[in-house]
Amino acid sequence: MENLVDDIKTNIWKLRSNISKEQSKKLDLNKCERVVEKLDSFSTNCEECREHLVDLKKHFMGLEAKIDSIEQECKQHKQVIQGIVSHLQKKHKLVSEGFYLSLYMSIGMSLGVVFGLTIIDNFALGISFGMSMGIAIGAGLDADAKKKGNTI
Ligand SMILES: [Zn+2]
Repeated sequence: MENLVDDIKTNIWKLRSNISKEQSKKLDLNKCERVVEKLDSFSTNCEECREHLVDLKKHFMGLEAKIDSIEQECKQHKQVIQGIVSHLQKKHKLVSEGFYLSLYMSIGMSLGVVFGLTIIDNFALGISFGMSMGIAIGAGLDADAKKKGNTI
């Protein structure tokens, strides 16, 4: 798999140097690199990850050929990456960066609203309390997931 992974990384690197910063942001190339690394680490035990790597190689070679109309490729590109990301999330239990933060922030906010309206009778205080609790918990879980290498 080594060569394949190196090839894809070289493709991404070449692509990045040939398009504008905004375009590479649009294509989310940094995320693509992380995805490739994750696929690589699972590919010894997962047939589907190996297939995704093969597909990605073709995909990036295709993008390279269409560099002049790269904007039009964005949508399809995102679908390809999203498909792989959802495999990584479902099969390999990975989460996207900031996943827990946004999850717990919204839980904290709704609990804060209830708490604010009922127990302390102060909506603003309740919501800000709930939100900061949620952020604290979510950020902690995100950091933990990152440390364990479970983020994409
Ligand atoms: Zn897999």
